[in-house]
Amino acid sequence: MMKTAIIGGGAAGFFLAVNLKEMVPEMEVSIFERGSRVLTKVEVSGGGRCNCTNSFAAVGDLSAVYPRGHRLLKRLFNVFDHESAFRWFESHGVPLVTQSDECVFPAAQDSHAVIDCFLRLARQYGIHIRTQEKVESLAALSGFDFVAVTTGGSSRAGHFEWLSSAGHQVEPPVPSLFTFSIDDRALRALMGVVADGACVMFPGTKLRATGPLLITHWGMSGPAILKLSSHGARLLAENQYRLPLAVNWVGCDDAAIQQRLSEMTVTNAQRQAGTVNPFGLPQRLWSYLGERSLGERLQLRWGALGKKDVNRLTNTLGNDTYLIGGRAAFKDEFVTCGGVALKSVNPSTLESRHVSHLYFAGEVLDIDGVTGGFNFQAAWTTAYVVAQSIAREARHTLT
Ligand SMILES: Cc1cc2nc3c(=O)[nH]c(=O)nc-3n(C[C@H](O)[C@H](O)[C@H](O)COP(=O)(O)OP(=O)(O)OC[C@H]3O[C@@H](n4cnc5c(N)ncnc54)[C@H](O)[C@@H]3O)c2cc1C
Repeated sequence: MMKTAIIGGGAAGFFLAVNLKEMVPEMEVSIFERGSRVLTKVEVSGGGRCNCTNSFAAVGDLSAVYPRGHRLLKRLFNVFDHESAFRWFESHGVPLVTQSDECVFPAAQDSHAVIDCFLRLARQYGIHIRTQEKVESLAALSGFDFVAVTTGGSSRAGHFEWLSSAGHQVEPPVPSLFTFSIDDRALRALMGVVADGACVMFPGTKLRATGPLLITHWGMSGPAILKLSSHGARLLAENQYRLPLAVNWVGCDDAAIQQRLSEMTVTNAQRQAGTVNPFGLPQRLWSYLGERSLGERLQLRWGALGKKDVNRLTNTLGNDTYLIGGRAAFKDEFVTCGGVALKSVNPSTLESRHVSHLYFAGEVLDIDGVTGGFNFQAAWTTAYVVAQSIAREARHTLT
């Protein structure tokens, strides 16, 4: 009987194990998990609801949601994409729902729906689950015909050392998906305020992200900031998380901002500038930004504001700058930017280019996405591809 060892009892490890047993029922499959419990990240994911994939309806270009790994995923989605994942879960007893923001969750709104499904199938298929068994050497698995590494991410370089010793290139791991600490008391006083259509960027780079921006008691959060932390994960790490951040609070270009403000000086000439807000920003935010650029002149009527005032306001609304002073957590969610370099694996099979019959799936690879179910989708896709590769190879060996 052929044997497969899967190192890591997380999302990718279980999905791989279950699919491999469905493809090659006679394969003996063992999952080695260093912890005392399996699937712990699935359990806490999505605030305990598990945002297990995304409809991708709002995704034009995969590089927008997968800062690392989008080219490889584009290829692998031909084998197993979000629709395949949706069908897979529903046909294995986990009904799903797609929210209006395109995130997909179990209809039960509980990550245990996914965990119970995996554990039930593992039991049914006779998959061996060996907890408290940390594996960091291939020699320990010499009795196995195939080995799959699904050990997930970590921003500790040591996590990948045994894989680099085996010849694999490892992109230095750094955290992704975090919020920004900004030491600005006046800004922090606005905690809870949201600018719906903000655009944030790092000056002098092409890195930018759009979406709602939430002001918090430590700085800034919200979808726009999380996306920028993902796209800029490496740049931020290289700069010790201290970088200038440019904020366009209204998401339109300078010319459009200036035109709207100039119109205000005519259409609202008799009304006080601080009380009539031209871009639908929350009033507290408008007052803060107005004072930041005009000081006491914000008390004047729109009609009393001159060209200089309009230019100053345009600059603050369209190109406000802050200094990021550090990174902070986002609901404990983070993923790793970096990991086993994609050039170290065969892009069709995810087999190591250095050790035959060794495969990689999940976050251990240098693939990561923004929030919204994209990281689990990458885990399902890569795990499925590895299951298929091992199944193909096993059949080939048997014939
Ligand atoms: C709080 C939180 C919430 C999240 N929410 C979401 C979400 O809603 N949607 C989404 O798409 N993504 C989410 N993510 C990201 C997602 O959880 C990961 O991308 C995903 O779990 C990766 O799956 P994986 O199997 O590759 O790694 P993991 O799930 O991390 O599993 C790896 C497993 O390997 C084990 N292991 C590691 N090294 C060894 C070793 N040497 N020997 C044996 N075992 C080992 C680990 O203990 C772990 O159990 C969240 C992440 C966090 C931290």
